[in-house]
Amino acid sequence: MAPHIVDKIAEVLHLKHHHTEKAHTDEAIPAEGSAAAVPTKSESETKSPVFDASKITVFFVLGGPGAGVYIFHSGDLLRAEQNRPGSTYGEMIRTYIKEGQIVPMEVTIKLLENAMKDTLAEGREGDGWVDGRGRFLIDGFPRKMDQAEMFDEQVCQSTLVLFFTTTEEEMLNRLLERAKTSGREDDNEESIKKRFRVYTEQTMPVIEHYNKLHKVAEINATATIEDVHEKAKAVVAKVFSGEHIGNTTV
Ligand code: AMP
Repeated sequence: MAPHIVDKIAEVLHLKHHHTEKAHTDEAIPAEGSAAAVPTKSESETKSPVFDASKITVFFVLGGPGAGVYIFHSGDLLRAEQNRPGSTYGEMIRTYIKEGQIVPMEVTIKLLENAMKDTLAEGREGDGWVDGRGRFLIDGFPRKMDQAEMFDEQVCQSTLVLFFTTTEEEMLNRLLERAKTSGREDDNEESIKKRFRVYTEQTMPVIEHYNKLHKVAEINATATIEDVHEKAKAVVAKVFSGEHIGNTTV
Protein backbone atom coordinates (compact mmCIF):
# COMPACT_ATOMS: atom_id res chain seq x y z
CA MET A 1 0.00 0.00 0.00
CA ALA A 2 1.22 3.47 -0.85
CA PRO A 3 2.61 5.30 2.18
CA HIS A 4 0.37 7.91 3.69
CA ILE A 5 1.07 11.57 3.15
CA VAL A 6 1.31 12.26 6.85
CA ASP A 7 3.83 9.44 7.25
CA LYS A 8 5.89 11.21 4.65
CA ILE A 9 5.60 14.60 6.30
CA ALA A 10 6.57 12.90 9.54
CA GLU A 11 9.79 11.79 7.90
CA VAL A 12 10.60 15.41 7.14
CA LEU A 13 9.83 16.32 10.74
CA HIS A 14 12.03 13.43 11.93
CA LEU A 15 9.08 12.09 13.84
CA LYS A 16 8.12 8.58 14.66
CA HIS A 17 4.62 7.28 15.07
CA HIS A 18 3.29 7.65 18.51
CA HIS A 19 2.56 4.46 20.37
CA THR A 20 -1.17 4.92 20.83
CA GLU A 21 -1.53 2.19 23.40
CA LYS A 22 0.31 4.33 25.93
CA ALA A 23 -1.84 7.39 25.60
CA HIS A 24 -4.69 6.17 27.71
CA THR A 25 -6.57 8.56 29.91
CA ASP A 26 -6.40 6.63 33.18
CA GLU A 27 -7.75 8.76 35.98
CA ALA A 28 -6.46 11.95 34.41
CA ILE A 29 -9.88 12.85 32.97
CA PRO A 30 -12.38 14.01 35.54
CA ALA A 31 -15.47 11.83 35.77
CA GLU A 32 -18.22 12.63 33.29
CA GLY A 33 -20.50 15.32 34.55
CA SER A 34 -18.19 16.26 37.38
CA ALA A 35 -17.78 19.94 38.01
CA ALA A 36 -14.08 19.71 37.29
CA ALA A 37 -14.55 18.32 33.75
CA VAL A 38 -14.70 21.74 32.11
CA PRO A 39 -12.48 24.42 33.54
CA THR A 40 -14.24 27.59 34.50
CA LYS A 41 -13.47 30.71 32.48
CA SER A 42 -11.32 32.20 35.20
CA GLU A 43 -9.33 28.94 35.54
CA SER A 44 -8.64 28.76 31.83
CA GLU A 45 -7.71 32.44 31.70
CA THR A 46 -5.09 32.15 34.38
CA LYS A 47 -3.69 28.76 33.41
CA SER A 48 -0.71 28.75 31.07
CA PRO A 49 -0.27 25.98 28.49
CA VAL A 50 1.38 22.74 29.60
CA PHE A 51 3.98 23.01 26.83
CA ASP A 52 6.02 26.08 25.89
CA ALA A 53 5.38 27.05 22.25
CA SER A 54 8.92 28.42 21.90
CA LYS A 55 10.21 24.88 22.46
CA ILE A 56 7.43 22.80 20.95
CA THR A 57 6.08 23.09 17.42
CA VAL A 58 2.60 21.73 16.82
CA PHE A 59 1.16 21.30 13.34
CA PHE A 60 -2.49 20.44 13.04
CA VAL A 61 -3.55 18.38 10.04
CA LEU A 62 -7.11 18.84 8.81
CA GLY A 63 -9.11 17.85 5.79
CA GLY A 64 -12.48 16.27 5.14
CA PRO A 65 -12.96 12.62 6.04
CA GLY A 66 -11.16 10.65 3.33
CA ALA A 67 -8.95 13.50 2.12
CA GLY A 68 -6.18 10.93 2.42
CA VAL A 69 -4.05 12.01 5.29
CA TYR A 70 -3.11 9.98 8.14
CA ILE A 71 0.76 10.27 12.93
CA PHE A 72 -0.49 11.29 16.15
CA HIS A 73 -3.99 10.77 14.95
CA SER A 74 -6.75 11.82 17.30
CA GLY A 75 -9.05 9.17 15.77
CA ASP A 76 -6.46 6.44 16.49
CA LEU A 77 -5.96 7.65 20.05
CA LEU A 78 -9.73 7.55 20.58
CA ARG A 79 -10.06 4.08 19.04
CA ALA A 80 -7.22 2.81 21.26
CA GLU A 81 -8.97 4.23 24.33
CA GLN A 82 -12.28 2.75 23.16
CA ASN A 83 -10.68 -0.70 23.03
CA ARG A 84 -8.65 -0.40 26.24
CA PRO A 85 -10.02 -2.86 28.79
CA GLY A 86 -11.45 -1.02 31.77
CA SER A 87 -11.75 2.37 30.06
CA THR A 88 -14.56 4.46 31.53
CA TYR A 89 -15.01 6.17 28.18
CA GLY A 90 -14.90 3.18 25.79
CA GLU A 91 -18.63 2.86 25.14
CA MET A 92 -19.16 6.59 24.95
CA ILE A 93 -16.36 6.93 22.36
CA ARG A 94 -17.76 4.03 20.32
CA THR A 95 -21.18 5.71 20.09
CA TYR A 96 -19.75 9.07 19.01
CA ILE A 97 -17.54 7.50 16.36
CA LYS A 98 -20.30 5.35 14.91
CA GLU A 99 -22.53 8.42 14.64
CA GLY A 100 -19.72 10.46 13.09
CA GLN A 101 -19.99 12.93 15.96
CA ILE A 102 -17.21 14.87 17.67
CA VAL A 103 -16.08 13.13 20.86
CA PRO A 104 -16.19 15.56 23.84
CA MET A 105 -13.04 17.65 24.01
CA GLU A 106 -12.08 16.73 27.58
CA VAL A 107 -11.43 13.15 26.48
CA THR A 108 -9.73 13.94 23.18
CA ILE A 109 -7.48 16.67 24.55
CA LYS A 110 -6.42 14.66 27.60
CA LEU A 111 -5.48 11.74 25.34
CA LEU A 112 -3.41 14.08 23.17
CA GLU A 113 -1.73 15.75 26.14
CA ASN A 114 -0.85 12.35 27.64
CA ALA A 115 0.47 11.15 24.30
CA MET A 116 2.67 14.25 23.97
CA LYS A 117 3.95 13.87 27.54
CA ASP A 118 4.75 10.18 27.00
CA THR A 119 6.59 10.93 23.80
CA LEU A 120 8.64 13.76 25.28
CA ALA A 121 9.34 11.81 28.47
CA GLU A 122 11.18 9.24 26.40
CA GLY A 123 13.36 12.15 25.34
CA ARG A 124 15.06 10.37 22.49
CA GLU A 125 16.24 12.43 19.53
CA GLY A 126 13.89 11.61 16.68
CA ASP A 127 11.03 10.54 18.94
CA GLY A 128 9.37 13.91 18.82
CA TRP A 129 12.64 15.73 19.64
CA VAL A 130 14.91 17.40 17.13
CA ASP A 131 17.80 19.62 18.27
CA GLY A 132 16.27 19.90 21.72
CA ARG A 133 12.89 20.98 20.42
CA GLY A 134 9.66 19.02 20.28
CA ARG A 135 7.73 18.55 17.05
CA PHE A 136 4.24 17.22 16.75
CA LEU A 137 1.92 16.58 13.87
CA ILE A 138 -1.62 16.06 15.08
CA ASP A 139 -3.91 14.66 12.46
CA GLY A 140 -7.68 15.02 12.61
CA PHE A 141 -7.53 17.74 15.21
CA PRO A 142 -8.98 20.19 16.15
CA ARG A 143 -12.34 19.15 14.72
CA LYS A 144 -14.37 21.76 16.58
CA MET A 145 -13.82 25.31 17.84
CA ASP A 146 -13.94 24.43 21.54
CA GLN A 147 -11.07 21.95 21.23
CA ALA A 148 -9.01 24.37 19.14
CA GLU A 149 -9.30 27.05 21.81
CA MET A 150 -8.73 24.69 24.72
CA PHE A 151 -5.65 23.12 23.13
CA ASP A 152 -4.06 26.47 22.23
CA GLU A 153 -4.76 27.93 25.67
CA GLN A 154 -4.03 24.97 27.87
CA VAL A 155 -1.79 22.48 26.05
CA CYS A 156 0.37 24.32 23.53
CA GLN A 157 -0.07 27.24 21.17
CA SER A 158 -0.17 25.63 17.73
CA THR A 159 2.05 26.79 14.88
CA LEU A 160 0.23 25.98 11.65
CA VAL A 161 -2.71 24.06 10.21
CA LEU A 162 -1.91 21.89 7.21
CA PHE A 163 -5.29 21.86 5.53
CA PHE A 164 -5.69 19.15 2.89
CA THR A 165 -8.53 19.73 0.45
CA THR A 166 -10.25 17.71 -2.24
CA THR A 167 -13.79 17.18 -3.51
CA GLU A 168 -16.47 15.38 -1.52
CA GLU A 169 -16.81 12.89 -4.40
CA GLU A 170 -13.10 12.04 -4.17
CA MET A 171 -13.30 11.70 -0.38
CA LEU A 172 -16.30 9.36 -0.65
CA ASN A 173 -14.50 7.20 -3.22
CA ARG A 174 -11.38 7.00 -1.07
CA LEU A 175 -13.38 6.08 2.02
CA LEU A 176 -15.40 3.42 0.22
CA GLU A 177 -12.15 1.99 -1.11
CA ARG A 178 -10.71 2.00 2.42
CA ALA A 179 -13.90 0.34 3.72
CA LYS A 180 -12.96 -2.83 1.86
CA THR A 181 -10.12 -3.46 4.31
CA SER A 182 -10.40 -1.02 7.23
CA GLY A 183 -12.96 -2.86 9.34
CA ARG A 184 -14.00 0.55 10.68
CA GLU A 185 -17.58 0.83 11.91
CA ASP A 186 -17.84 4.33 10.43
CA ASP A 187 -16.59 3.48 6.92
CA ASN A 188 -20.08 2.95 5.51
CA GLU A 189 -22.09 5.33 3.36
CA GLU A 190 -24.50 6.34 6.14
CA SER A 191 -21.76 7.20 8.68
CA ILE A 192 -19.68 8.87 5.97
CA LYS A 193 -22.53 11.22 5.04
CA LYS A 194 -22.92 12.18 8.71
CA ARG A 195 -19.18 12.76 8.96
CA PHE A 196 -19.26 15.07 5.94
CA ARG A 197 -22.06 17.08 7.52
CA VAL A 198 -20.26 17.34 10.87
CA TYR A 199 -17.11 18.37 9.03
CA THR A 200 -18.87 21.20 7.17
CA GLU A 201 -20.76 22.44 10.20
CA GLN A 202 -18.14 22.05 12.93
CA THR A 203 -14.67 21.75 11.43
CA MET A 204 -14.87 24.41 8.72
CA PRO A 205 -15.31 27.15 11.38
CA VAL A 206 -11.98 25.96 12.83
CA ILE A 207 -10.31 26.54 9.47
CA GLU A 208 -11.88 29.99 9.29
CA HIS A 209 -10.64 30.75 12.82
CA TYR A 210 -7.03 29.86 11.93
CA ASN A 211 -7.37 31.68 8.61
CA LYS A 212 -8.07 34.86 10.57
CA LEU A 213 -4.93 34.13 12.60
CA HIS A 214 -2.97 33.62 9.30
CA LYS A 215 -2.06 30.08 10.23
CA VAL A 216 -3.49 27.97 7.40
CA ALA A 217 -1.47 26.29 4.67
CA GLU A 218 -4.00 24.88 2.24
CA ILE A 219 -2.71 21.93 0.25
CA ASN A 220 -4.66 20.46 -2.66
CA ALA A 221 -4.82 16.74 -1.93
CA THR A 222 -6.42 15.62 -5.18
CA ALA A 223 -3.01 15.03 -6.76
CA THR A 224 -0.82 11.95 -6.29
CA ILE A 225 0.64 11.14 -2.89
CA GLU A 226 4.09 12.11 -4.19
CA ASP A 227 2.91 15.53 -5.39
CA VAL A 228 1.04 16.24 -2.19
CA HIS A 229 4.07 15.12 -0.20
CA GLU A 230 6.32 17.53 -2.08
CA LYS A 231 3.96 20.43 -1.41
CA ALA A 232 3.55 19.61 2.27
CA LYS A 233 7.30 19.09 2.66
CA ALA A 234 8.01 22.53 1.23
CA VAL A 235 5.58 24.16 3.69
CA VAL A 236 7.05 22.33 6.70
CA ALA A 237 10.62 23.08 5.62
CA LYS A 238 9.79 26.79 5.46
CA VAL A 239 8.48 26.75 9.02
CA PHE A 240 11.68 25.14 10.29
CA SER A 241 13.87 27.53 8.35
CA GLY A 242 12.22 30.28 10.40
CA GLU A 243 10.28 31.73 7.49
CA HIS A 244 6.91 33.21 8.31
CA ILE A 245 4.28 31.26 6.39
CA GLY A 246 0.99 33.04 7.03
CA ASN A 247 -1.98 31.81 5.01
CA THR A 248 -0.84 30.08 1.89
CA THR A 249 -2.26 27.84 -0.85
CA VAL A 250 -0.11 25.25 -2.62
P1 AMP B 1 -10.92 9.77 11.90
O1 AMP B 1 -10.17 8.55 12.31
O2 AMP B 1 -10.07 11.03 11.93
O3 AMP B 1 -11.66 9.62 10.61
O4 AMP B 1 -12.02 10.01 13.04
C1 AMP B 1 -13.03 9.05 13.26
C2 AMP B 1 -13.98 9.54 14.33
O5 AMP B 1 -13.25 9.68 15.58
C3 AMP B 1 -14.61 10.90 14.08
O6 AMP B 1 -15.74 10.81 13.25
C4 AMP B 1 -14.97 11.30 15.51
O7 AMP B 1 -16.09 10.60 15.99
C5 AMP B 1 -13.77 10.81 16.29
N1 AMP B 1 -12.70 11.84 16.33
C6 AMP B 1 -11.54 11.86 15.66
N2 AMP B 1 -10.80 12.96 15.93
C7 AMP B 1 -11.55 13.67 16.81
C8 AMP B 1 -11.36 14.92 17.47
N3 AMP B 1 -10.29 15.70 17.24
N4 AMP B 1 -12.32 15.32 18.33
C9 AMP B 1 -13.41 14.57 18.54
N5 AMP B 1 -13.68 13.42 17.94
C10 AMP B 1 -12.75 12.96 17.08
